Amino acid sequence: SFETFDAIVVGAGMSGNACAFTLAKRGLKVLQLERGETAGSKNVQGAILYADMLEQLVPDFRDDAPLERHVLEQRLWIMDGASHVGMHYRSDNFNEEKPNRYTIIRTQFDRWFSRRVQEAGVTLLCETTATELIRDLYGRVVGVRTDRAGDVVLADVVVLAEGVNGLLGSRAGLRPIPRPEQVALAVKEMHFLPSETIDTRFTLREDEGVVIEAIGTISKGMTGMAFLYTNKESLSVGLGCLVSDYRDGAETPYSLLDAFKKHPSIAPLLAGSEVKEYTAHLIPEGGYKAIPQLYGDGWLVVGDAAQFNNALHREGSNLAMTTGRLAAETIIQLKAQCLPPTAANLALYREMVEDSFVMEDMKKYKDMPALLHTHSKTFFLTYPELMSRAAQNFLRINGVPKREKERATLHSFVRRRSWPGLIGDAVRVAQAWR
Ligand code: FAD
Repeated sequence: SFETFDAIVVGAGMSGNACAFTLAKRGLKVLQLERGETAGSKNVQGAILYADMLEQLVPDFRDDAPLERHVLEQRLWIMDGASHVGMHYRSDNFNEEKPNRYTIIRTQFDRWFSRRVQEAGVTLLCETTATELIRDLYGRVVGVRTDRAGDVVLADVVVLAEGVNGLLGSRAGLRPIPRPEQVALAVKEMHFLPSETIDTRFTLREDEGVVIEAIGTISKGMTGMAFLYTNKESLSVGLGCLVSDYRDGAETPYSLLDAFKKHPSIAPLLAGSEVKEYTAHLIPEGGYKAIPQLYGDGWLVVGDAAQFNNALHREGSNLAMTTGRLAAETIIQLKAQCLPPTAANLALYREMVEDSFVMEDMKKYKDMPALLHTHSKTFFLTYPELMSRAAQNFLRINGVPKREKERATLHSFVRRRSWPGLIGDAVRVAQAWR
């Protein structure tokens, strides 16, 4: 068949849904393709939903979206084998009428989002993989071929919202396949517990939730982090490390997750839970320097497929929704001005992304991925061990004068890292953080 659309959106994840929804709301004829059985069936996320970015698209989402708990408390734990040094922030201000962050379960959430997208008028074809981009004589992208008996569908623009592992764009030479040091492999389990047990263990009421994010010796010197998020009747527990670190080491994702679950700070939180799901997924972590070409003749790329992920702040879905929306607004604007979707005209999308918080944040941390990659042992092994030892030394009341304890702590840092090493680490972090 050769039905023609204003736009084809490949993928029904966060970015694809945001894009298709925005286009359809403005009356464009949109076809969305999703290789999964349903929207969301292939998607994995922690998951924290950042409400602000969704609210811009669906202002009344709180009415019927499947939200788990709103985040009341954030914990950052730096762990060694037996301990954790923690920073907790809990505020009753987060108990607001329209909370800012929620935990969600992506399969349920994506199904809801997709229903809203279809209600807006988008034609969604599930179990349909876009296998190839179709180009005209001038090399412009004019549609896609799908695995449905080699069907071809034509459109003015194709939006690649195919996620981190999207082969359509890389096969067509629009962007390179991410290198092993540009992606993390995350594994995640769902641990079911009665909601009252979760409330008691985390001192929560009703829909209040806690987020724990943890780094340290749990990643065995690899660049990575672990997490534990409270849902209504389950805990999402996971861990991700760079693929290149897994390649070069002997650890497996599952052995690390297992050790994390057995950690004395984590085990009591999971006690008695029933594990029902085990999933694995990649996370783009190359940062600003890994962002590929974002547009060309007849195509745009959004979300994870374009490496839009702020690994340090664990933001991905919000960048996906924002870039999906901005791609749609670009297409809408060109259409309104009767301008063809040439690369020159679609460059507007890059400008919009540049003007948004997305690129600001990506640029801010542009040197962070390289720093964490090259100094992973220092930041994920040495310092967590030193911090734990310092805290323990300070808290053990054993007749040793405080000044002596301080001196011993300082010596332990200098012995492990040396003065130039310590100063160098501080300067490197400050520079990458700027
Ligand atoms: P996806 O959501 O991956 O969607 C891509 C879709 O395209 C999929 O449905 C896929 O099946 C489909 N597809 C791919 N190729 C084709 C094809 N050829 N034809 C048809 N369909 C295709 N972000 C946060 O904001 N908060 C978090 O707490 C958080 N935690 C995370 C925890 C884990 C373990 C992981 C893995 C990620 C986490 N992220 C988090 C990141 C977040 O999940 C992603 O940034 C976000 O899902 C990206 O959306 P996307 O639409 O670009 O890609």
